[in-house]
Amino acid sequence: MTLSPLQPASFSKYDSHQPLIGILGAGQLGRMLALAGIPLGLRFRFLDPEANSPAAQLAPCITGSYEDEKTLEAFADGLDAVTYEFENVPAKAVETLSRRLPVYPSQLALETSQDRLKEKTLFQKLDIETPFFAPVSNRSNLNAALEISGFPAVLKTRRFGYDGKGQWLLRNSQDADFCWEQIEKTSQSREISLILEGFIPFDSEVSLIAARNLRGQTVFYPLFQNRHEGGVLRLSKLGAPGVSKELQNRAETATRSILDALNYTGVLALEFFLVGDRLIANEMAPRVHNSGHGTIEGASASQFENHLRAILDYPLAAPNLNGVSAMWNVLGETPDIAGVLATPSAHLHLYGKTPRPGRKIGHITVLAETEEALAEPLAVIRKLAPQT
Ligand code: AMP
Repeated sequence: MTLSPLQPASFSKYDSHQPLIGILGAGQLGRMLALAGIPLGLRFRFLDPEANSPAAQLAPCITGSYEDEKTLEAFADGLDAVTYEFENVPAKAVETLSRRLPVYPSQLALETSQDRLKEKTLFQKLDIETPFFAPVSNRSNLNAALEISGFPAVLKTRRFGYDGKGQWLLRNSQDADFCWEQIEKTSQSREISLILEGFIPFDSEVSLIAARNLRGQTVFYPLFQNRHEGGVLRLSKLGAPGVSKELQNRAETATRSILDALNYTGVLALEFFLVGDRLIANEMAPRVHNSGHGTIEGASASQFENHLRAILDYPLAAPNLNGVSAMWNVLGETPDIAGVLATPSAHLHLYGKTPRPGRKIGHITVLAETEEALAEPLAVIRKLAPQT
């Protein structure tokens, strides 16, 4: 962590008024950003194509397209700065807004993370280990890439994949034939833009969340230990044993090199596979991240607060931990609310979304002094919020 102990009295240009922050996307991440920023005196305006989104229940939200110039103009009017809650926001919208206003993270960071090929090429350039990867736009590229990767391998769309969507596990050449047939059928005349990755038989998955402000101050949260099911994050632990200082340092070094290369502002999340003590970078997200939701109660300052501090060039908060915490995603169905609230140390967050099978509608964080002591409340909430 690099934090200077004392800051001058007037640190940020926003010291003298209540900044109005524009957020592209009014989902749960936008909602939690607003919940963290309101106590700091910040005001928010959202833009989202969907009406009645989770953040629209908290602050004004324009319902409209990210691609419509007039909508962007109305959104930008009077804002101090803009940020976004998801990386599939059109880069053109960020470019248009950047001509009028500070937008963080930058267009370069956004465009890099929107394309798995650009992202992995950057990792490689910075000497960050990644799975083997190769671009695939036709069958002969795929065959050539499979010659190197062998089976199993993972074929992914370069853009717009999330939560395991837009990816296929190829276990053998029959899978490759079948998958390619489907891709050709659905792509019609559109260009095929895929990436083949070597399959990593990982021991576990971890993520690192960093925040960097405009003047380059940087803080790192301890590594989150994550468990995915069906490509979707289910559980993240923070502060549990199993992360050595050396592993943390290596993850920080890799993440810092990305922050520096992109002259980054805001929160950045980097997801890794862990194989033995090898850290292999999977992907990055230029935004607050699902694995970090437990920082709301599990750390002295949440990822949401540090993102806002970073983009407003305020001093960042050193993220000291409140013991060990576990964040459990609530998927598909409202849990037994009274049961969760009756569970000692459980904190319930519901996003105001209509339940639908598999949909992330909330999360629950439990805290304890040790990982052993966490087991009991965690077992209780897992029963109260099963996946549907
Ligand atoms: P992604 O959308 O790339 O984050 O992938 C979602 C999940 O799929 C990851 O968290 C892993 O559990 C799994 N996955 C993705 N890529 C690979 C890979 N190359 N090898 C093994 N598992 C993978």
